[in-house]
Amino acid sequence: MNAFDYRAPRTLEEVLAILREHGDEARVIAGGTALVTMMRQRLVRPSCLVSLRDVQGLGRIEATNGAVRLGAMVTHREGEISPLVRERLPVLSETFHRVATIRIRHMATLGGALAHADPNQDPPVTLMALGARVEIRGAEGQRELPLEEFFRDYYETALAPGELVTGVVVPQLPATSGAVFLKYLPRTADDYATVAVAATVTLELDGERCREARIALGSVGVTPLRGRAAEALLPGERLGEHLLHAVGEAAKGEVDPLSDHRGSAAYKREMTAVMVGRALTQAWQAAQQRL
Ligand SMILES: Cc1cc2nc3c(=O)[nH]c(=O)nc-3n(C[C@H](O)[C@H](O)[C@H](O)COP(=O)(O)OP(=O)(O)OC[C@H]3O[C@@H](n4cnc5c(N)ncnc54)[C@H](O)[C@@H]3O)c2cc1C
Repeated sequence: MNAFDYRAPRTLEEVLAILREHGDEARVIAGGTALVTMMRQRLVRPSCLVSLRDVQGLGRIEATNGAVRLGAMVTHREGEISPLVRERLPVLSETFHRVATIRIRHMATLGGALAHADPNQDPPVTLMALGARVEIRGAEGQRELPLEEFFRDYYETALAPGELVTGVVVPQLPATSGAVFLKYLPRTADDYATVAVAATVTLELDGERCREARIALGSVGVTPLRGRAAEALLPGERLGEHLLHAVGEAAKGEVDPLSDHRGSAAYKREMTAVMVGRALTQAWQAAQQRL
């Protein structure tokens, strides 16, 4: 690992000023679970590390009208055990619970996960299905992007040089909704997913027909992605074998997995259809229980 300066500013303004001063040579560090590995492997060699740990206000989880806002420095463990997240967004709490081991969850942060943009991560999948928006702050001011527009390519985001993720705003689902995150990992429980699916289903008041559904997929493309063609088959429909088969087939057509040690591309495509069917069924049943 190369030698570097370590800075621990207490305000966002100071962070932005240091990033402006050092340009490409500076890198922010949150939990360090990805960055330190990349530095050890000499994939990145920053001469200045800017810790976000002491920056005030980045670690809050709070209710805002109809949504929950999580600061960028909220750790996966804090997201998992937060009473507010458990009550308002139980599927997100469950998703954090499925990340790696408790030691990693204590270190890794939400902002780090989003900025790192590894398509095998779990929280981005559920956040995408929930329609989350990313808060971004830079020298030019603040902006917000839907998560789908934030991820651009393999490990690439819409962050411009010198910009930071400051938080994520996650809307609550309507009352007649259910949501599920499923992580298919045939090897060990602390592995990255072979295929990950998050599904939300909002039902009509008759409790039978779907009003709206969202499907997000992880580990099956260069970014987490929405299964838009699959979703489009659902409004107005009742749950059934034929529908689930058609939705699974549509989802298969939307993914572009890589072959790796977790499975061949063809296997991951087949498992996408299976996991989408399971996730939709469970989300649908969860919605019916809430009626
Ligand atoms: C062994 C292992 C297993 C794992 N398994 C899983 C898994 O199964 N599922 C899963 O979802 N995750 C898993 N993770 C975690 C995941 O891969 C990332 O390591 C983690 O999400 C990164 O978060 P961090 O806070 O540690 O980021 P860091 O390592 O601190 O930073 C990562 C990158 O993001 C940048 N960055 C950090 N914060 C910000 C910010 N607020 N704004 C802008 N840029 C920022 C950094 O400059 C760096 O480029 C695993 C990690 C390890 C080490």
